[in-house]
Amino acid sequence: MTSAGRFAPSPSGELHVGNLRTAILAWLFARSTGRSFLLRVEDLDRARAGAEAVQLRDLAAIGVDWDGAVVRQTARGALYEEAIGRLQSAGLTYECFCTRREIQEAPSAPHAPQGAYPGTCRNLGLAELEYKRSTRPAAIRLRADVAKFTVRDVLHGAYTGIVDDFVLRRNDGVTAYNLAVVVDDAEQGVDQVVRGDDLLSSTPRQAYLASLLNIPVPEYAHVPLVVNSDGVRLAKRDGAVTLGDLDAAGIPAGEVRNLLLASLGLPPGTLSEALAAFHPAGLPTAPWAWKGIVNNH
Ligand code: GLU
Repeated sequence: MTSAGRFAPSPSGELHVGNLRTAILAWLFARSTGRSFLLRVEDLDRARAGAEAVQLRDLAAIGVDWDGAVVRQTARGALYEEAIGRLQSAGLTYECFCTRREIQEAPSAPHAPQGAYPGTCRNLGLAELEYKRSTRPAAIRLRADVAKFTVRDVLHGAYTGIVDDFVLRRNDGVTAYNLAVVVDDAEQGVDQVVRGDDLLSSTPRQAYLASLLNIPVPEYAHVPLVVNSDGVRLAKRDGAVTLGDLDAAGIPAGEVRNLLLASLGLPPGTLSEALAAFHPAGLPTAPWAWKGIVNNH
């Protein structure tokens, strides 16, 4: 099995400088440790027509290259169903009929952490189950037997977070991100996951699920996000934040790459040139404020 890192964008729109910075970091982590680097398009949900092509073009424009063919989650349903089937056979799943609103309004289970699924459908009797099945399609949830799980992160150290009975397959039939990401990383030989630290709180769920599926837990590095001048996570509404916008404002992709490298304390040049100066331990851990092109340029 190969040893690989990856970047896994959701094709919901154009990548902005925050996404591109995470992609550069994932590339540097992988290449500096001799891993191959894979590109996976997470198109199960929120995919917009044409977005993938623009994302791939922009990644290539800043020098992020990848090995092998691009993989798309929508082509991998059989793998996800196989994993859900294994969990089902082991008695580790149950059907859930709750709407979002019912979950919000349900009293939380005793000792359950805030935000955890309250367990409404965990122990339905047969008659109740039959009745609910006749009213709506079911989601499939994991029957978790822990409330917390600890992961190790290269930048955050030991991190303990909530594990609840999270959804594996939504009631519209779409595989849930937490299941897909675990199955994909394992199947693709990904043993290093570098991504934005907004996803750190989902990681204990994923690592716990990996342990149930007898999948090795990858090395994690959750990297700081890029924020706007108000300290809020960067978004499209923050002005010229995509390569297309920046190019139109007279800043070509190579210059954007140099700005992003500088934000990581790395010298300007190609990503391969930056490799020699890349040391994960020296990475800034605070979010990087994108001040807009007037100040940055
Ligand atoms: N597709 C997710 C996103 O774009 C990233 C998931 C991951 O890297 O595990 O936010």
